[in-house]
Amino acid sequence: MKQIQQLLEQRVRADVRAMQAYRVADAQGMVKLDAMENPFTLPAYLQQELGERLGRQAINRYPAENVQALRQALREDLQLGDGDSDAACALVLGNGSDELIHLLCMACAIQNAAVLAPMPGFVMYQLSAQLNHLRFAGVDLQADFSLDVPAMQQALQTQRPALLYLAYPNNPTANLWAVSDIEALIEQARATDTIVVLDEAYQPFADDSWLDRLRGRFADYPHVVLMRTLSKLGLAGARVGYMLGHAALMAELDKVRPPYNISVLNAECARFALQYADVYAAQAAAIRAEREVLRQQLAAAGLEVFPSQANMLLVRHEQSQQMFDELKQHGILVKNLHGKHRLLENCLRITVGAPDENQRLLQVLRQSEAGG
Ligand SMILES: *Cc1c(COP(=O)(O)O)cnc(C)c1O
Repeated sequence: MKQIQQLLEQRVRADVRAMQAYRVADAQGMVKLDAMENPFTLPAYLQQELGERLGRQAINRYPAENVQALRQALREDLQLGDGDSDAACALVLGNGSDELIHLLCMACAIQNAAVLAPMPGFVMYQLSAQLNHLRFAGVDLQADFSLDVPAMQQALQTQRPALLYLAYPNNPTANLWAVSDIEALIEQARATDTIVVLDEAYQPFADDSWLDRLRGRFADYPHVVLMRTLSKLGLAGARVGYMLGHAALMAELDKVRPPYNISVLNAECARFALQYADVYAAQAAAIRAEREVLRQQLAAAGLEVFPSQANMLLVRHEQSQQMFDELKQHGILVKNLHGKHRLLENCLRITVGAPDENQRLLQVLRQSEAGG
């Protein structure tokens, strides 16, 4: 006992020892409305096809051809043209975009480098900064969750950060920020040599994307990176994310990537999803439609519901803690954000589930003593 204590104290970073591990909530048997997962499964014939395709993969070999094929399929899906004709733009694949966020920090971890992001925001931006010894600077959003552009510009000027993360839509607030606000920050970031990462994890559920504004223009925007993931679309378990940016920047980031970070199984799942993009698009459309139904019903049940362009709804209610507890007692897991940030007082984040899951949630909320 004494020996292990000494070993940890001697050899493990003090800041790591002081950290809390990222807790994946125990959700056995629960209705999971806490992690922005797609609630729908695949029809049986597609499950079978996927199984057969995975079974044919050469898992005795290190990943090679089918990861290359995935990269090519993504380029086609994004209409980037082939690698040679669009030399200014390249893709880096990650084991989920979480890994890409780490790679960006790792590559930029120069003495005194900083990461800037609006708050509240995605927790990985801060965590990856800390683990890679970058300073983290958070700038609060305004009360309506719009960007505080003057404060962000001030922070760019004084901190001169290596990285600025802008999630579009943002997690956990679920909104899209004004394009003109983001454009202003991109222009200022050009002057401070800051890499702006536009994180479009929720793109399948949003009305707007930066892809059309950036496609073919990375020579003009060498400091802008577009990041996406297949997770929220329905492949959270397969772990595939990607980022897109100027080829010279991507080449540097690719050097810190573990060479086999995408397994043949991940890659095959992603290729399968691209091939059946229509199936996934239909599921995303169903989730967007269900989001509107749920939004209206939550509002009718007396909760304040914030505008959403993602597969989640941020809600506020004075009795949010009691609602969270009652939902949990009834086997429904949502995310309790109260206490995470001053702008999230009495807030819960509810992932849009399948219609029957959403109805179960509403039933509990309507009967809740908190709702009254
Ligand atoms: C969920 C999420 C991600 C990470 O997704 P991966 O599963 O690691 O691809 C990235 N950014 C935001 C804003 C997210 O909400």
